[in-house]
Amino acid sequence: MKSVSFIKPLTAETAFMSLRVWPGQWLKEDRFTGLLYMLGRHRAVADEIAFQNACTLSPVPITAIRESARVLRDRIMRSKAAGYRAGINVVATLGHNDEYAPDALQGDFTRMTDVDGSRSTAIFCSNDVAFRDYVAELYRAMAEADPDFIWIDDDMRFNSHGTVRFGCFCDTCIRLFNEANGLSHTRESLVTAFDAPPFDGMLNLRRAWLTHNANSIVSILSFIERNVHLIKPEIQLGQMTTQNDYDGNELDRWVAALSGEAGTAVKWRPGSGFWSDEIMRNLLSKSHHIGMSNSMLPETVSDIQSEIESWPYQPLGKSAHTMAVEVAAYIAAGSTGAAYNILGFFDESPEEYEPLLQHLAARRPFFDLLVKTQGRCKPVGVSPAWNRKVMASNHPQGKWLGTRESPYCEYNRAIYDFPMEFLQIGLPSAYSSATAEVTLLAGDTPLAFDRPELEDMLSRSVYMDGRALARIHEMGLGELTGFKVAGWVDRDCAEILTDDLLNGTGAGRSRESAPRIWPCAILGQLDDSTRILARKIKRNGADCSFPCMGIYENASGGRVAVAGYAPWTTLYTSAKALQLKRLFRWLSHDTLSGYVDSFHKVSLWLRRDENGRIAAVVLNVSQDAAEELVISIRTKNTGGTVTNMNCKETSISVLEQDGPYMKFQLPAIAPWHLALLTV
Ligand SMILES: [Zn+2]
Repeated sequence: MKSVSFIKPLTAETAFMSLRVWPGQWLKEDRFTGLLYMLGRHRAVADEIAFQNACTLSPVPITAIRESARVLRDRIMRSKAAGYRAGINVVATLGHNDEYAPDALQGDFTRMTDVDGSRSTAIFCSNDVAFRDYVAELYRAMAEADPDFIWIDDDMRFNSHGTVRFGCFCDTCIRLFNEANGLSHTRESLVTAFDAPPFDGMLNLRRAWLTHNANSIVSILSFIERNVHLIKPEIQLGQMTTQNDYDGNELDRWVAALSGEAGTAVKWRPGSGFWSDEIMRNLLSKSHHIGMSNSMLPETVSDIQSEIESWPYQPLGKSAHTMAVEVAAYIAAGSTGAAYNILGFFDESPEEYEPLLQHLAARRPFFDLLVKTQGRCKPVGVSPAWNRKVMASNHPQGKWLGTRESPYCEYNRAIYDFPMEFLQIGLPSAYSSATAEVTLLAGDTPLAFDRPELEDMLSRSVYMDGRALARIHEMGLGELTGFKVAGWVDRDCAEILTDDLLNGTGAGRSRESAPRIWPCAILGQLDDSTRILARKIKRNGADCSFPCMGIYENASGGRVAVAGYAPWTTLYTSAKALQLKRLFRWLSHDTLSGYVDSFHKVSLWLRRDENGRIAAVVLNVSQDAAEELVISIRTKNTGGTVTNMNCKETSISVLEQDGPYMKFQLPAIAPWHLALLTV
């Protein structure tokens, strides 16, 4: 099979594929024998088996740990003999939630403690010295079962632990924070100080708290590493992470902690909740979270297995095809494989999962091709403005952690999910400022950056909403945007595109959103060179009036677009999609690496190597086939290869040239299928 190789440090020829297995499938002899037999019939599904060491999400007593380790030693040995790499997934170290609390670890250990002092029942504080003794025994018992690897699950976090939304505010954690920062807070005074003006002071304190959380994770990971590698230095440690903003997002330090002095290779498993395929858009949301997480991983990490999970594990809960699309989409977002957690909880015959395994095995060559092509090359394109401590600037008016009425899902919408429509009209997804060709700036996010960082951002290519514009003015950088917010309208308001060149054939087309949800910013022009791309109009076509979208090139050469009307939603019309693609080319000074030129509902990931070759992964996110799909790629190459999910290759030639872009027409892509284009 021909393929362009974009391999950077990764030298693997295949994807890193594994299967996580609950005790129901390995504890009993006949069930384990049946499992190995079934996997043997679908050998391509996974190269590794990760045995879950327990079946509950709260830590279990050490007697239960030792008992499972005794059986696991046999299961691991026999899995290795069958040709698999075999290891253990520690389901609960600190614990995920308080489920099955009566069966959980008991004793005089400090429980995870919330901002109001309330404590969890069965989730523990990683800084409690007594609890560390349990952790040492737990991981030594696992290491003595002779695994190739040990995974730490995503309970290595301080937020969203059942009833404890934000931890850990126990006396030990407060003392460690005070000692590290030269402070003398009590829990109550610290929580009050998080919300005490001036803003710069509260921002610094909040950032210090996020760093404290990151440090606590470094500390417990180092502790685990020492205990495991004392027994066998070759055991690879791996960690699962989800959204870790409250944990300080210091993935590079966490990797170093798990690698230890011997520099043992580390595995990583990015994930987040997409458990059923009843809402397919959530697959894209998960791919976005995974992409952001992967962007933080050092290049030394090659083995990045995205979590594929179908909790609570019912074969009709998520289709086999959806899982295959997930694996490929998450590889496109920067993973190098996948960890399936898809078999049942219980001691039941796994035969009903056979069609699923058969399907996933058949897709394996496509996953391998994607990983071989991409390596760890990072995608380029459109990235949200973001940094590792972005959470510190959330709730700038106060109540940062002090209220249970600030649901995390609202935070995720504001920080992560706001560009989801952008990523379904054929603009390429990127996940960091280093690979951003255009940056998206939303809401209060400017507050997460200092003045030089914002000046730098505004000297490049930025698309922002009205709230971000207002924040930039408050920070004294308004003149770089060309506009100000002159007022807000929250009703009786639609948008009409002007006859500006960038609107092309969409000039005169209108768009109606819901201004009561996204109030419309009335834009005031600060400079004669600003251009107006849209104005407010009534739905009946009357009263074309104030500007609600415009562009500006500032003195630093930076190009800025301000969208006051429905900046992030209602983008699925041909006129709006056309405008945004032409706009993003303009914003980037025609450095945008590519985009889907035709009017299709697709997601796109682009990678470029130093020889100018491009690998593009296209995902059709519509239930209609994407026919006559045209993609514009910034390249001088005039021919390419398209490979579909069956690994069928088609050679294509350029349709026409458009400035620095070559247009290629792809063979039809079936609904919710992917194709790889290499040019
Ligand atoms: Zn604590």
